[in-house]
Amino acid sequence: MSVSIVWFRSDLRLSDNPALIKALGSGDAVVPVFVLDVETEGVRAPGAASRWWLHYSLQSLDASLRGLGSRLVLRRGPAEKVLAELAEECGAKAIFWNRVYDQGSRDRDGRLKKLFSERGVTVESFKANLLFEPWEVSTQSGAPFKVFTPFWRACRMLPPPATPLPAPRTLPAPETWPAGDPLAAWRLLPTSPDWAGGLRATWTPGEDGAKQRLSHFVDETLADYRRARDLPAVEGTSRLSPHLAFGEIGPRQIWQAAMTRGASAASEKFLSEVGWREFAYNLLFHNGDLAQRNFRPEFDAFPWADPDDTLDAWQRGRTGYPIVDAGMRELWTTGWMHNRVRMIVASFLTKDLLIDWRAGERWFWNTLVDADLANNATGWQWVAGSGADAAPYFRVFNPVLQGEKFDPDGDYVRHWVPELASLPNATIHRPWAAPVPPPANEYPERIVEHGAARDRALAAFRNLKKSA
Ligand SMILES: Cc1cc2nc3c(=O)[nH]c(=O)nc-3n(C[C@H](O)[C@H](O)[C@H](O)COP(=O)(O)OP(=O)(O)OC[C@H]3O[C@@H](n4cnc5c(N)ncnc54)[C@H](O)[C@@H]3O)c2cc1C
Repeated sequence: MSVSIVWFRSDLRLSDNPALIKALGSGDAVVPVFVLDVETEGVRAPGAASRWWLHYSLQSLDASLRGLGSRLVLRRGPAEKVLAELAEECGAKAIFWNRVYDQGSRDRDGRLKKLFSERGVTVESFKANLLFEPWEVSTQSGAPFKVFTPFWRACRMLPPPATPLPAPRTLPAPETWPAGDPLAAWRLLPTSPDWAGGLRATWTPGEDGAKQRLSHFVDETLADYRRARDLPAVEGTSRLSPHLAFGEIGPRQIWQAAMTRGASAASEKFLSEVGWREFAYNLLFHNGDLAQRNFRPEFDAFPWADPDDTLDAWQRGRTGYPIVDAGMRELWTTGWMHNRVRMIVASFLTKDLLIDWRAGERWFWNTLVDADLANNATGWQWVAGSGADAAPYFRVFNPVLQGEKFDPDGDYVRHWVPELASLPNATIHRPWAAPVPPPANEYPERIVEHGAARDRALAAFRNLKKSA
């Protein structure tokens, strides 16, 4: 029996997986493989929190495949070399994968296609990780969109995404399985120290966990999404982002679940957020260096400050601004942070501290379980003002007013910054104004004064404009 290889990447699921269904339809034995590739130039290696997630996601995928009479082969090394060897070993006639969109991976996939075609191995790639391919959406003049609203309007004019594919019920196995690494040998989990307790307590990586989260969201949370999505103290959003980042669930499945309720203002709003993910991928596809370079080149001359111990204070949640510190501690503990708070902490880093957005992007990359090159770079550049359709630089979030507006009862701050728990609502977001401020050895004094920091940021921005 000849063999088809299915190369799993950012699609660690059996449902709605067109590469897998194609392999099954070929009538060949199917060899599913995942390659840990931290060597190929231009492909960003996963950060620490993502490695933790990846371990459990691979474990879960392997268990699901075993339920179908198959298994997941694990190999490590540069994907081109590893896959060429594997195809040779198995005598594979075909290899299938679902597309990814960052520049380094696309370059590598292009080289692989060429190599396999020269060897007479069929190669086919599929749309599974986006609703709309980047080349399916363009302005009337054929250029990529730079502004979200017309981009999403154009997407909505296209035929709706296809119905998700069912998971296979069985997968034909090869006569002999090629050897693979034991997952433990990859040492993806932290050991000394084991800092992942909060991650374990918060998440269930894997396709089943993703499906449960989606149905819980659609049943319990979606109806109130428009109101609750901006309140970090409540579970008002789907928290699907890490599942999406690893492809444990696909965007078509999310689309279908949100739409089964019929189009409503709530599902439209929710899908437009999924649309921001599409927009981010579109930007990354057309700007391969989005995570390294300012989308707007005039920002190249911006006088960022040298990162000093204020960067450390920001990372550790000790800036003296309760909402910023709560967000950074939520991130450190759970590997996730609420979107509203991501915007607040990113504004604080780039404007109050005047630190280059790339330092923040890197920290998020390492600590987020949903770290995603497209969404992260787009989010950071949006807040910094250097990105496509970005918030104007002069829009500086005031961490006190943002806290009072979006965490009016202080519940979010009290949860993540327990040393402030006894402060009344009136001063929970400005502890320095409390009748008895907390002692500095319990909660730090402000590392900058927001009004002065804002003036400094605006002056830097004005100078940039003058010199442009
Ligand atoms: C500075 C900054 C960095 C960010 N880094 C990441 C990142 O690394 N990975 C990541 O997935 N998201 C990132 N985001 C976007 C957003 O904060 C998260 O997607 C969202 O908080 C995830 O929570 P959720 O799944 O409950 O979202 P929901 O509100 O339930 O939205 C559903 C899905 O839509 C997508 N989505 C929602 N909002 C956005 C957005 N603003 N931009 C792009 N996609 C969005 C996500 O895939 C999300 O899972 C970042 C935002 C900012 C401001």
